[in-house]
Amino acid sequence: MVSTFELEIVNSTNKKEKPSQDQVPFGTIFTDHMLTMEYSSDQGWHEPKITPYAPITLDPAAMIFHYGQTVFEGMKAYRTEDGRVLLFRPEKNFERLNLSSERLSIPPVDEKLMLEYLTKLIELEKDWVPSTPGTSLYIRPFIISTEANLAVAPAQSYKFMVILSPVGSYFPGGMKPVIIHVEDQFTRAVKGGTGMAKTAGNYSSGYQAQAQAKQAGNADVLWLDGVEKKYIEEVGSMNIFFKIDGEVLTPELNGSILKGITRTSIIELLNSWGIPVTERKISIQEIYQAFADGKIEEVFGTGTAAVISPVGELNWQGRKMVVNNHEIGELSQKLYDTITSIQTGKVEDALGWTVEVK
Ligand SMILES: *Cc1c(COP(=O)(O)O)cnc(C)c1O
Repeated sequence: MVSTFELEIVNSTNKKEKPSQDQVPFGTIFTDHMLTMEYSSDQGWHEPKITPYAPITLDPAAMIFHYGQTVFEGMKAYRTEDGRVLLFRPEKNFERLNLSSERLSIPPVDEKLMLEYLTKLIELEKDWVPSTPGTSLYIRPFIISTEANLAVAPAQSYKFMVILSPVGSYFPGGMKPVIIHVEDQFTRAVKGGTGMAKTAGNYSSGYQAQAQAKQAGNADVLWLDGVEKKYIEEVGSMNIFFKIDGEVLTPELNGSILKGITRTSIIELLNSWGIPVTERKISIQEIYQAFADGKIEEVFGTGTAAVISPVGELNWQGRKMVVNNHEIGELSQKLYDTITSIQTGKVEDALGWTVEVK
């Protein structure tokens, strides 16, 4: 018998058909297996299992449905030209998962062990990692509170899961600068809140603002600080960078911004090229002034989904700021090319960022 603390693997006998590589949608197709693990207050995390992908059953009183005690992560597995499979700084995702969990009063997981289990899962699902340029296997680890109890308090039981979804290129027609609405009514997060955690409520609370921005022709919103609506925070699920008069700037981590792994990687990469990055408070007024003075060279969002998403226009209180004539900036392109080349093993991984799944 397998101990309740040893990974159990149950192979699927009913393998699904894989999508065509040129038409992979985002987030609606899942692989043959998933990873699950349970938490109870007396046993801690236990029963790690890889089993056929299937719906799960929860009590209607499960606390996740009522008080939203949940966290998630987002990462990718990439196919190299010679057929290998690489993960990009996966230890950072489990580190951040535990940081998010701490904020949500969820018990931490063993980061090293989770990476081991994830590696086993990807090994089993290797054929699901697509190879067309721009495609990848999206990895979604998450934790939900499962205890059936309507009391407003941290749950006594949780479920950790990892599901995998092949995803197509973020820019199917090639990288294209986006139009972003600077949101000055709705608030995503405030210092002391949950903005630094990857937790469900941060996203659903942004839908209304995003819908209004989209209706007005924008791709997403740029959030300002929740108190003064003065300082720039981040985009929907991306951090933001500016290149102004030769200087690269990004908002400092203040407790309400998510610490993106792409953000960290870009800062480290630029530093390795001898380009300093200033992390500080950046007001929207300052950006508007730089625009008026013709000093904004590039603006780009950063995140696992797109890596780099150039911004071609910012709309703030009816004022339109066109960036670099709606064209991709030189630095944006170079960062995109370098990071995607590291992720897909095209260039030497001098910074030791990738982990091969054998
Ligand atoms: C996930 C996310 C990011 C980007 O983080 P990466 O680790 O670079 O993918 C930025 N902001 C928010 C709000 C996010 O949820």
